[in-house]
Amino acid sequence: MHDVVVVGGGVIGLTTAFELSRSGQRVLLLEQGEPGREASWAGAGMLPPGCPAPPDDPLVPLTAATQRLWPELSADLRERTGIDNGFQRSGGIEFSEPPGQSIDSDVAAWHAVNIEAEPLTPDAAREYEPALDPSWGPCYRLDNMCQVRNPRHLKALLAAARQQGTEVICGAQAVDFDIEGDRITSVHTLADRYPADRVVICSGSWTSPLLARAGLRVEIEPIRGQIVLLAMPQPILRHVVECGHRYLVPRSDGRVLIGATQEQAGFDKRNTATAVQDLLEYALRICPALANAHVERTWAGLRPRAVRGRPYIGSSPRFENLYVAAGHFRWGLHLSPITGRLIRQMLCGDSTELDPAPFGWTTD
Ligand SMILES: Cc1cc2nc3c(=O)[nH]c(=O)nc-3n(C[C@H](O)[C@H](O)[C@H](O)COP(=O)(O)OP(=O)(O)OC[C@H]3O[C@@H](n4cnc5c(N)ncnc54)[C@H](O)[C@@H]3O)c2cc1C
Repeated sequence: MHDVVVVGGGVIGLTTAFELSRSGQRVLLLEQGEPGREASWAGAGMLPPGCPAPPDDPLVPLTAATQRLWPELSADLRERTGIDNGFQRSGGIEFSEPPGQSIDSDVAAWHAVNIEAEPLTPDAAREYEPALDPSWGPCYRLDNMCQVRNPRHLKALLAAARQQGTEVICGAQAVDFDIEGDRITSVHTLADRYPADRVVICSGSWTSPLLARAGLRVEIEPIRGQIVLLAMPQPILRHVVECGHRYLVPRSDGRVLIGATQEQAGFDKRNTATAVQDLLEYALRICPALANAHVERTWAGLRPRAVRGRPYIGSSPRFENLYVAAGHFRWGLHLSPITGRLIRQMLCGDSTELDPAPFGWTTD
């Protein structure tokens, strides 16, 4: 009997397992494939300084809290595992979408949530990033935009969770539950049955059909994001460069990720010719110096989008020992530290870092 069964080994499940096991819980993590190979691997690793939403939006304190946790978590993982997740404050340069439009309202939205956003003249932008096309349009700089090498971060989380005693079973797809009254008593995989005191569902885009097995309804849909990875012999950019939902994320080794599409394509993770062409065109227009880069790889991942617009981080109103942490859409990497922390605090009966009510699960 484990104290907690975590279902799903993406960044949300791994962070949750790490948090729980280091606070003394006996944790079992069930992963249908290999841990950290789905959306969390596919993501670009951008960690924005916050959320430019109206100041009373609950995502504003959630993103502020997670941003504070990243440096601490990265240092802790490095110390425990020797794995450097590549966390760094690279800064971001943001262009209006469509290009050419005023950036005033975007800058004002950041300032309203107390985050520095510095409007740049074309000359100032060129000073920061000489490789960008100066005619692209008005832009501003986010000094506190960070990034992480997410595949490395996932390796570090897995190693740290295991060190703390988390048992990880790969190829274990949760398919059903045993229920007694208002409690889930065990999780079934195709091959086995795992009794649990408490269960946390962190199954990303696959959450809705799984919870339907317990008669519960959450609306989370897969949104495909395609990425093209370029490689240059030397880094030619330092900042993350964003324009609407398209971006360039430069790595310190000269690689540049070009992302990303947002498509409803079910569970299809293939790349399409149109999307790859569109991403390359965007990259070469905004940064012509990438013309001679090598195309190293393309891939796609499935972002788990909660239809209600906010992730689910909380307990089920129907089963007292069932929790869900899923539906983080475009910001699951960024929000993973605070999500794991909140779930641990809720399960252990501690006071929570911030009010989790807006992320509660009310749609049973
Ligand atoms: C192209 C792209 C770019 C992105 N860029 C960023 C970014 O820059 N910054 C950012 O913060 N976020 C970004 N994201 C979003 C981020 O990657 C996701 O929000 C995040 O990874 C979701 O994590 P997760 O653990 O919920 O899901 P996943 O990583 O998908 O993990 C869910 C896991 O659960 C497992 N699972 C599912 N069902 C079961 C079951 N029944 N039994 C056992 N295991 C199961 C799956 O196999 C999977 O491993 C991006 C996503 C994509 C696709």
